[in-house]
Amino acid sequence: MSILDIRVLGDPILRQATTPVATITDDVRRLIDDMFETMYHARGIGLAAPQVGRSERVAVIDLGDDPFVVINPEVVQASSSTAKGEEGCLSIPDIYADVERPKSVVVHAIGRDGQPFEREATELLARCLQHEIDHLDGKLFLDYLSVLKRAAALAKWKLSADEYPGFIRRVALETPEDRDEHGHPEEEL
Ligand code: ZN
Repeated sequence: MSILDIRVLGDPILRQATTPVATITDDVRRLIDDMFETMYHARGIGLAAPQVGRSERVAVIDLGDDPFVVINPEVVQASSSTAKGEEGCLSIPDIYADVERPKSVVVHAIGRDGQPFEREATELLARCLQHEIDHLDGKLFLDYLSVLKRAAALAKWKLSADEYPGFIRRVALETPEDRDEHGHPEEEL
């Protein structure tokens, strides 16, 4: 397994829609394994393929004790009631903002074994699934912010963007101290 570089805000791949996976090949399985490895190393709780420069419709999630992959995920049902919660993103390190989203969702996806499944999620898992599926559609959590809040977040981002030449975050080279610096009570996805 390898730790992959993470693409940060400004890399055009984060704005491109992904392509559904037609067959779960060894290449796709390797991508999934590497994405888990990368997510754990970066201390994230979710990671989508465009964040590591890939265009497959794949994301991995682990809130702590239940790692799972979603291949070709779609939200098939969303609650009308919404909840506000703070979000961060491994591709926009150290920027956090409140985002309002449906409180619960039902997601349809394919697992690593090729079997389709449906998952009903609430609270943080619902938020995480929506955040990752947004990535697969070229969408970022900043898109939900008001004009003023987005401008403030982007101004803050510009101060640290130089740390990521070529829009690449070399997670493999980060020390535990670097990662603690990025660490936050609300984790990044
Ligand atoms: Zn993200």
